[in-house]
Amino acid sequence: MATIAGITGNQFIQGTQAYQNNKYQYASSSYEIDHNMNPGLIIQPENKNDIVLALKYAKAQKIAVAIRTGGHQYSGASSTSASNIQLDLKKTFRQPDDQTHFEKDGRTFVRTSVSWSLGALNAYLTRHKLFVPHGQCIDVRLGGHVQTGGYGQLGRSFGLFGDHVLSLEMVDHEGNFKEVTKATDPELFYAILGGSPGNFGVLTHFTIEVHRDSDYKGSRGLKALYWYDPKTLKRLLDILVEMSDNENFPRNYDL
Ligand SMILES: Cc1cc2nc3c(=O)[nH]c(=O)nc-3n(C[C@H](O)[C@H](O)[C@H](O)COP(=O)(O)OP(=O)(O)OC[C@H]3O[C@@H](n4cnc5c(N)ncnc54)[C@H](O)[C@@H]3O)c2cc1C
Repeated sequence: MATIAGITGNQFIQGTQAYQNNKYQYASSSYEIDHNMNPGLIIQPENKNDIVLALKYAKAQKIAVAIRTGGHQYSGASSTSASNIQLDLKKTFRQPDDQTHFEKDGRTFVRTSVSWSLGALNAYLTRHKLFVPHGQCIDVRLGGHVQTGGYGQLGRSFGLFGDHVLSLEMVDHEGNFKEVTKATDPELFYAILGGSPGNFGVLTHFTIEVHRDSDYKGSRGLKALYWYDPKTLKRLLDILVEMSDNENFPRNYDL
């Protein structure tokens, strides 16, 4: 498969060492046939215009596009095979203005690109004495995570990462830029947050409401490691269930 004219970011075609280095899929099916995925072309867009060119080319050629940011989709849905394109956004939007925060009406918001990892988001929030609930693996990227709930240890007290999303910026299948909110397009907003990631357009940035450390003075986190056996694990899980089911248990405890 040939490269696409006009794209300024990297394009990797089969049969090159660079292609081999960049097709690596962190998580994929353990079933051998599905495990080995070889996109016809791997594109690492440099900017939004590259994304538009790739989508328009794919539409004209009637080929599919798999979108990857962190590659942590468990069954490899962020890669593809045959003559289809993989759009890899892990490096695309990682400039300082791809991660900013602002105050409005006494609330704090972060506008971030999809290309940062959870570790990078958390480092940014910590620097600014902010936090938000999210998943545990620091290498998961925001591109997929924002569309798949985002459950972590603060879930009981603060909900899911996805609960904090206010707006989603994307390039749709026609190559149009869109900002989607609950108010402008509730169907699409909730489809992106809880549907089938990668099927509604290419997300580039989004805005979340975050929490401030100063509003939770005296909060403490405790991490403990110890040997356990199935009996202890079951007891711990029972406590977790009891905490979830008991509406009178204080909301500000997580396990
Ligand atoms: C080791 C590991 C630990 C995990 N821990 C947790 C956890 O604690 N809590 C939790 O909630 N989840 C957890 N997950 C699940 C993880 O949050 C999801 O799989 C998430 O969607 C991965 O996002 P990604 O960008 O890294 O992966 P990708 O594979 O790149 O993307 C995941 C999906 O989103 C689509 N997608 C990616 N980027 C975009 C984009 N820019 N625009 C449109 N679609 C896009 C892809 O096509 C794919 O379908 C874990 C997964 C792994 C492998």
